[in-house]
Amino acid sequence: MREAMFYEKLPDGSVKCCLCYRECLIPAGKSGFCRVRKNVDGRLYAMTYARPCSVEVDPIEKKPFYHFMPGELALSIATVGCNFSCLHCQNWEISQASPGDVPEHELLPEKIVELAQDYKARIIAYTYTEPTVFYEYAYDTGVLARENGLKNVFVTNGYAKPEAVEKSREFLDAVRVDLKGDEQHYQKVCGGAHLENVLNTIKEYYKTGMHLEIITLTIEGYNDKEDWVRQMAGFLKDLDPGIPWHFTRFFPAWKMLDVTVTSFEVLKKMREWAVDEGMQYVYIGNVENEYDNTYCHNCGELLIKRYGFSVVENNIKDGRCPACGARIPGVWE
Ligand code: SF4
Ligand code: SF4
Repeated sequence: MREAMFYEKLPDGSVKCCLCYRECLIPAGKSGFCRVRKNVDGRLYAMTYARPCSVEVDPIEKKPFYHFMPGELALSIATVGCNFSCLHCQNWEISQASPGDVPEHELLPEKIVELAQDYKARIIAYTYTEPTVFYEYAYDTGVLARENGLKNVFVTNGYAKPEAVEKSREFLDAVRVDLKGDEQHYQKVCGGAHLENVLNTIKEYYKTGMHLEIITLTIEGYNDKEDWVRQMAGFLKDLDPGIPWHFTRFFPAWKMLDVTVTSFEVLKKMREWAVDEGMQYVYIGNVENEYDNTYCHNCGELLIKRYGFSVVENNIKDGRCPACGARIPGVWE
């Protein structure tokens, strides 16, 4: 374990964690909502430091990132714990676990960087659960990875507070943030979180200048309302219409086993509303379809053809469309 960043000691021996918008007040001997940040004798500790429960090598498209180093591999790591408790969580066995509940490895940051190099992964992805809650491990690994010429990406629910987002400039290159639904959805489905905080985190990440993509796991009857999609499209467009936005198909999981698999028609409508509001790169994921490819926002030229998580064809040249020369938002090296 390692002493946590972003917390305040309080006179009565409790601590206030300032890493995410939960702002847990944690008495001595207890942990915060995420279960992995614990008050030990008046100090806050990150209990999963260097204790990943998942270490995999994935294509970057699987995160999904579609405008960030296409075709590259990402060494992907997670520890247990999450600051949300989404009823649909695909990874609930680890996201809702406490330290020691599931098998964990002991891997210091140096070893993670070494593993990435061994597997020829140019990227390290902090993913599967919520990387914000293992921030210190991600930070130390990410700084070392950057020194060794690797890139770092967060796959996050977007609940980190501004100070943590600002500091992540020191190691993060890209971030993919969930935009899960309206306020009611965040309250009822995601464990009492707030949409406004997520929107603020998205803005803060955008301000850092790092590459940003958004994902909405689309669940019929929960977050497929036209006015919400149009409102969110307006918010994102005001930041930058070139931010890629993925609408992905929901498959029943954890406590939402009785909810139907999202139909392609619903996903298509979501996409149409977002495009209609001016978003330029809107994808449909978790289902084979033509909206999995990248087309130039200016002239419609096919830029990247994908099959599943594989890049079949990449026509982008020096970050530009080969047909009209428009600059395509993203990191293409
Ligand atoms: S990171 Fe964990 S302990 Fe800290 S505020 Fe968020 S949920 Fe609470
Ligand atoms: S934020 Fe992600 S990892 Fe956490 S509970 Fe929700 S879906 Fe699972």
